[in-house]
Amino acid sequence: MNQIQHYLNGRHVDGRSERFAPVYNPATGEQSAQVALASADETREAIASSEAAFATWSKLSPLKRSRILFTFKALVEEHADELAAMISREHGKVFSDAKGEVTRGLEVVEFACGIPHLQKGEHSMNVGTGVDSYSMMQPLGVCAGISPFNFPAMVPMWMFPIALACGNTFIMKPSEKDPSTPMRLAELLSEAGLPDGVFNVVNGDKEAVDVLLTDERVQAVSFVGSTPIAEYIYATASAHGKRVQALGGAKNHMVVMPDADLDQAVSALMGAAYGSAGERCMAISVAVPVGEETAERLRAKLVEQLEQLRVGPGIVEGPDNDMGPLVTREHLEKVKGYIQAGVDEGAELVVDGREAVIDGAGDGYFVGGTLFDRVTPGMRIHSEEIFGPVLAIARAASFDDAVAMINDHEYGNGTAIFTRDGDAARQYCEQIQVGMVGVNVPIPVPMAFHSFGGWKRSLFGPLHMHGPDGVRFYTRMKTITQRWPSGIREETNHFTMPTL
Ligand code: NAD
Repeated sequence: MNQIQHYLNGRHVDGRSERFAPVYNPATGEQSAQVALASADETREAIASSEAAFATWSKLSPLKRSRILFTFKALVEEHADELAAMISREHGKVFSDAKGEVTRGLEVVEFACGIPHLQKGEHSMNVGTGVDSYSMMQPLGVCAGISPFNFPAMVPMWMFPIALACGNTFIMKPSEKDPSTPMRLAELLSEAGLPDGVFNVVNGDKEAVDVLLTDERVQAVSFVGSTPIAEYIYATASAHGKRVQALGGAKNHMVVMPDADLDQAVSALMGAAYGSAGERCMAISVAVPVGEETAERLRAKLVEQLEQLRVGPGIVEGPDNDMGPLVTREHLEKVKGYIQAGVDEGAELVVDGREAVIDGAGDGYFVGGTLFDRVTPGMRIHSEEIFGPVLAIARAASFDDAVAMINDHEYGNGTAIFTRDGDAARQYCEQIQVGMVGVNVPIPVPMAFHSFGGWKRSLFGPLHMHGPDGVRFYTRMKTITQRWPSGIREETNHFTMPTL
């Protein structure tokens, strides 16, 4: 049995807790590895290692830190196929999608390579007579990242490249469902020349996480995962004086206006709803056609497209499938349970993925693409995040009704509007209570040099991930106001209160 342990001080270290979690290949249902779950003591040792490494890493010139990241970028590119196959084997997503994930992560590394420019700070001369003021963006110390199963490469890469570039050390606690890729990234960082202890990986569960949230040596916590855990992370780590960014779950709606290019909208919807088996925080899970006629046309085209959706293993000879299995058997059962809940609550099940015949499925955790119509707010399949290949059509009578339905929802991660009307699009962008908005773009994930984050219960904390917010999150601003007395140029005695 393949053993996945921890990565501390630049090498693999065996866990001592004797607690393990199984790791599966979702395409076959076979257990492929077991991952060690760190004890509280082991986690504290990792923090001690990161704290020791901070003393020298934080003093290194940003230029030298950035050169290590340039080398890391080249190594990730060189190993992109290997990383993508690793992701697909543990997560289940199709190979091309896994490669896309690696690329999106790499873009954050590219952004972080610019840290000498990004961390320059501010300077004002003569804020008073002979007085200058400047701000420095100093690293925080030991930072921790806790990531979800659905992007085992990209989400860690939203966090650590910027944290490290800013001069922090970092402890990664990956999802226990697919931990191999973050471990491989740790090896590549060492190969790129990162000093030992600057990036440590602690595998584990709540026991390890709770130490990261409460130990006073950890300065900041970045989290991505489900909303109940995000809320817990935010409350606990903030109560222990840390800065926190905790990204949670989502229910993303796509409004289709009567004037939209329907072929374009349907093709966008298919990828956004069923890509990665719907296990994306930016997946579209609710289509909101405006008007009955739009709804009928949209539904007919979706049914047509669903018949052609290729579902199967993530790694195959020849062209990729469109969609792979779900991550675990437990999650498969949960998604099937939601499909049943939709039927029980009176939604119209148009295409039932539970009945799909899937080539090569074996004992893998497969369910086919599913489509519901006449879904209304209040039904669980509308209010809750399913995180599977289940698309709901929730019909709206008007633009205002569509906006109200979305604004009333507890989540506010991403959304999109498909229309040819600039005024409708503009109104939508202004009124919608969601953090990331696409206009004729189904999954509006901001690029690495912008910041990523939702609103409402999709994000706890003021700062989003990566981009300018990422640099702000991983640095502490110190503002210096300085005045140099004339010193040897002029002798003066001052006995009165100095004023600017
Ligand atoms: P999860 O919340 O179950 O787990 C996330 C992380 O938290 C894992 O590392 C896990 O080990 C840890 N964890 C789980 N339970 C814990 C507990 N009780 N105490 C402390 N730590 C705990 O999430 P998941 O199932 O791995 O990922 C899917 C979720 O992540 C979805 O809700 C999805 O929307 C969300 N997500 C959000 C974004 C975003 O940007 N908003 C991005 C990706 C995924």
